[in-house]
Amino acid sequence: MRYIEFCGDKLSRLGFGTMRLPVRGDRSIDEEKTAEMIRYAMAHGVNYFDTAYPYHDGKSELVTGKVLREFPRDSFYLADKYPGHQIADSYDPEQVFEDQLRKCGVEYFDYYLLHNVCELSMPAYTDARWEIIPYFLEQKRRGRIRHFGFSSHARPETLEQFLEQYGKDMEFCQIQLNYLDWTLQNAEEKVRILNRYGIPIWVMEPVRGGKLAEFPEEMRQGFRNLRADESDAAWAFRFLQGIEGVHVTLSGMSNLQQLQENVRIFEEEKPLSEEERDTLLKYAERLKRGVPCTACRYCCDGCPSELDIPMLMHAYNETQTGGGFTVSMQLDALPEDKLPTACIGCGSCESVCPQGIRIPEIMQKLAEVRKTLPSWIEISRQREEAARKAKQRKADA
Ligand code: SF4
Ligand code: SF4
Repeated sequence: MRYIEFCGDKLSRLGFGTMRLPVRGDRSIDEEKTAEMIRYAMAHGVNYFDTAYPYHDGKSELVTGKVLREFPRDSFYLADKYPGHQIADSYDPEQVFEDQLRKCGVEYFDYYLLHNVCELSMPAYTDARWEIIPYFLEQKRRGRIRHFGFSSHARPETLEQFLEQYGKDMEFCQIQLNYLDWTLQNAEEKVRILNRYGIPIWVMEPVRGGKLAEFPEEMRQGFRNLRADESDAAWAFRFLQGIEGVHVTLSGMSNLQQLQENVRIFEEEKPLSEEERDTLLKYAERLKRGVPCTACRYCCDGCPSELDIPMLMHAYNETQTGGGFTVSMQLDALPEDKLPTACIGCGSCESVCPQGIRIPEIMQKLAEVRKTLPSWIEISRQREEAARKAKQRKADA
């Protein structure tokens, strides 16, 4: 296993994400298989484990913590996250944090993150009423959090805005980063921003939920010609090994075979050459669906509804390339008069678009697709209501 030094910690380059643990037929976590995987990971040098409040409906923390208790507390690093991204009427960081320590069976977290700082959640995270950030900084002073950071699916400008205000308190940042999102989700720009602020990067979704784990048959030979001994999935990890600032790559593994393959990959650092990287990024372009918007913004000045057209084109592309939840978050954060439904179909944008994109038509399509996506705000409310009821049941019992 390869390691990296971070503030005196020796972190395995491969981190164990616990969002997609093996499950049984009823979707509950298969504890035996999970224990087998965690034991294998520990035996093969993986020492970083990442859980979060909502993973597996709150059970990931319980199961991960239970298995890790088999090992000395100083032999692994445990990361957890505060769920301020779940939209609620009020926030109580203390109640959640104490609950998380109890569920994981630990007295401190090595790494603790604000979960998904984005357009929707930033108002809550920065609202002085809830004292979320001051509360966690205090826990850090008390030694109950060793390192404090955040994860984010925000657009680059929001990420920068957050860093401008709170960057001095943040030790690391976890972003969705892989060779497809390098351009699809502007990850290249986010990496540039984080490097500029000197914030080390933790990677999530390195193989985009498995989408990048295998090349299509007709592409495979081309990659084999470049690297004969590399598996398809390894290309995604080798791409990340060449990116400045990347410290830990989290993989949400669901079975022992995936873990074994990832452990094998992380026995070596073999970043891609320029030629290999170009080939991979060209392949990523083929995976994209949607419209060829280059974000030149020529269309924006003449829009009577003042829509952020490139952002909406980008959201449309993401829906066509298998994305959904980040689009929901981005569109839910917009006021009604900035949504695709606010397009009046005047066509002024279309006449200046160098790419010839039929923008009003795409706006209509995006508005239609949005109706099929779950609302992030609605999901948050449902989760909050379920948690409230569970708490009530516990108090009544
Ligand atoms: S067609 Fe829609 S998006 Fe284009 S300029 Fe008119 S209102 Fe704006
Ligand atoms: S003019 Fe066309 S390519 Fe440029 S930002 Fe607008 S939609 Fe995208």
